[in-house]
Amino acid sequence: MPKTYEVVILGSGPAGLTAAIYTGRANLSPLVLEGEPSSASDQPGGQLMLTTEVENFPGFPEGVQGPELMDRMRNQAIKFGASVEQKKAFRVSFDQKPYKIWTSLDETDIIYANSVIIATGAKSLMLDIPGEQELVGHGVSTCATCDGFFFRDKTIAVIGGGDSALEEALFLTRFANKVYLIHRRNEWRASPIMQERARSNVKIVPIWNTKVTSVNGASTVKSLSLLNTETNETTELELDGVFIAIGHSPSTEVFKGIIDMDENGYIETGVGTQTNIEGVFACGDVQDHTYKQAITAAGSGCMAALDVQKYIENLVET
Ligand code: NAP
Repeated sequence: MPKTYEVVILGSGPAGLTAAIYTGRANLSPLVLEGEPSSASDQPGGQLMLTTEVENFPGFPEGVQGPELMDRMRNQAIKFGASVEQKKAFRVSFDQKPYKIWTSLDETDIIYANSVIIATGAKSLMLDIPGEQELVGHGVSTCATCDGFFFRDKTIAVIGGGDSALEEALFLTRFANKVYLIHRRNEWRASPIMQERARSNVKIVPIWNTKVTSVNGASTVKSLSLLNTETNETTELELDGVFIAIGHSPSTEVFKGIIDMDENGYIETGVGTQTNIEGVFACGDVQDHTYKQAITAAGSGCMAALDVQKYIENLVET
């Protein structure tokens, strides 16, 4: 019988690595599958790898670079006995113990686990236009709470017309002089109360029927190229930063039909971090569409680790 891990953690953002620190310190020798560096938005370390300075993570009064914070968490997990492998789950089977996780497309590499913590996170949807990926962390952001502070007295834009976009735009008016709210249609999708708030904020300037076709700038964002979809007119809008707020997508593809999810694909957790499958837990952004902060993800990673510990203790006792 091949080696069976007590706990395998899928994902290496703040949730997964905090779960690894806690289960490591509990002598459970966790294995973390940290993902593959296949693309800018799907790499080990999660979304913080795409951020520059993180100023709101407690314990870092001077701020810390997102990648450095993740590196520190990773080292802390390893120090307490976690193994970290650059692999991701292509398929899982939670029908019977030990649970199986396939980590290669040709299905030759299988990892066996008595319990699993899903911490695969969520990805911000992106516009997929020239300049966007290159300038992430240098004027392109997907998190106003994380990066708004850097745009004090600047001119910025938020892209989108849903509650997230309006919420981000409103939040950003605390810092920026002017916030363009660029939407592809002529009416927002957001709730009436958010629309009302956005309309009555003098710093928010809506731009309707407009698509962003490129983000321009060499080392930082300098302008956006815009296309008016009614008139076909193209213009260039000078600004200092742009926040993409067109929704998120949880990374739950491999769990479809196996783990209970809500209509948007976020994993449903009952009490604590327990999923509908015994011994399978979920934490971080993959089950949280509300808070989505590094610190809340880390907190729920801790919860998942404690839930796993209790689960394994009960297994031993029975
Ligand atoms: P959303 O409601 O799906 O809105 C996404 C917005 O982005 C839409 O306006 C959409 O345009 C636009 N969009 C999508 N793809 C685009 C593209 N490729 N190019 C340009 N624009 C694009 O997502 P969300 O705002 O993140 O909200 C998700 C859920 O969370 C919603 O149920 C929302 O109510 C909830 N939420 C609630 C709160 C709150 O209550 N405080 C805060 C945030 C989110 P169209 O309108 O043309 O489709």
